This record gives sequence, C-alpha cells and structure tokens, in this order.
Amino acid sequence: MGDLTELGRPPAAVVLDLDDTLYPQAAYLYGAARAVGRAGAAVGLDPIRLARAVRRQLIAGSDRGGTIDRALAAYGLAPDRAGELVPGLVAAFTAYQPKRLPHYPGVTAALARLRERYPLACLTDGNPLIQRAKLAATGLADWFTAVVITDELGGRAARKPHPGGLQHAAGLLGVAPEDLVMIGDRPGKDVAIADVLGARSIRVRTGEYADAPDEPAATAVVDDLAAAVALLT
Ligand SMILES: [Mg+2]
Repeated sequence: MGDLTELGRPPAAVVLDLDDTLYPQAAYLYGAARAVGRAGAAVGLDPIRLARAVRRQLIAGSDRGGTIDRALAAYGLAPDRAGELVPGLVAAFTAYQPKRLPHYPGVTAALARLRERYPLACLTDGNPLIQRAKLAATGLADWFTAVVITDELGGRAARKPHPGGLQHAAGLLGVAPEDLVMIGDRPGKDVAIADVLGARSIRVRTGEYADAPDEPAATAVVDDLAAAVALLT
C-alpha cells in the first residue's frame, strides 16, 4: 500500500483494536491456559496435560466459548466430573492477569508517532477485567485518550461490529464517527464496525485472523501496525 493519499483526507482521530493488533493474543492465551492447569492441579488433574488441552482448544478458535468444557472432554474426564470442575476452572481462566505482554515489533514507536498527530482511543471486546489487565500488561495504556470496552456498554451484544462502541469512542474523542480511522486485525469486526458508521479502516494482517479473507474490504490492508501508522503519518 502507498501513503495517506490512498486513505484520502486525514482523519480527526484514530481508534485501535487491542488483541492481535497491538500484541499477539496467543501470548495471553498461553498464560491463561497455564493458569487453568494450575487450578486443575489443585483438584487432582495433571497441570501440564490440562494446560495443553486448553491451549489446543484456544488455538482451534479463541472466540467460540465452551473452551474449558471441550478441553476437559479432550483430557478424558467423564461429563459429570467435568461438569463439577468447569466453574472453578473457568474462574481461574478469567481471573488470570498477565504481568507483562509482549507487543508487536515497532508498536511503541508507532503509537508515539500517531499520538503526535491524532487523539487515540482503544476499542476492544471481551470481559472488562481481562481486557483492562491485558492493556495494562502491554504497557501501552497511556497512549490512549479513551479506552472503550464494548462489554461495559451492553454485554456481548455490544461487541463489534455493533456500532455502539465506535460511536462511544468518537464521542469521548470529540469527533464525528465518519472522521475516524479504525485500525484492527479482524475484517468481520474492526472493518465492519467502521463500515457501519461511515468511518475508514485499516486492516492489519497480524494474529489469529491474519489469513482471513478481506470481507468486508478495508480502506487499506497492511502487514502490521507499524505499516498502518506509516500510512497515516
Ligand atoms: Mg483484534
């Protein structure tokens, strides 16, 4: 992709997704799977084998729900025993708070450059406690004027591509939604939400969905966040 001219007029502000856009979500999921393993050890399960079973389910699709149930089935537990253990293991998963998460190369410098020109917001879906812990663990929270976690606006139903989150971010930034550029890794969420509100979008090809088709098509598609920022600066 080329330069800003491909995006047309400069945006008034930029909104960025968190997971698989600023940092590889796999790093978080790996730690969360280990936390489930430790909780399993406390009730007599093999922590290594359980963590591996959880990790396999997460790799198969971190978005699907029912991860722990499927992991316990794969581990070989009988359904009634698994049913007893699920609530505690799910609690261990959601309570996991990483101390540090690695970000993609060049992300800090890219955000610094972007912040010189535009107010920034972070827009993310998920359990608010977990999403806040992840953002804190990346060490990137201070770059953002606003952080919007869609689940705080209306639960799972408010997740992208529901337009409420991006609308809310625009309000906090004091700009019209159509003057925003949304940067994110998932066409069906980050590009789609921009489309709904007439905003522009840059898709980054990082993380779990890097090979997903460009549907809907973004205004621009680039390899990673550093390349997205290069388009805007
Ligand atoms: Mg994402």
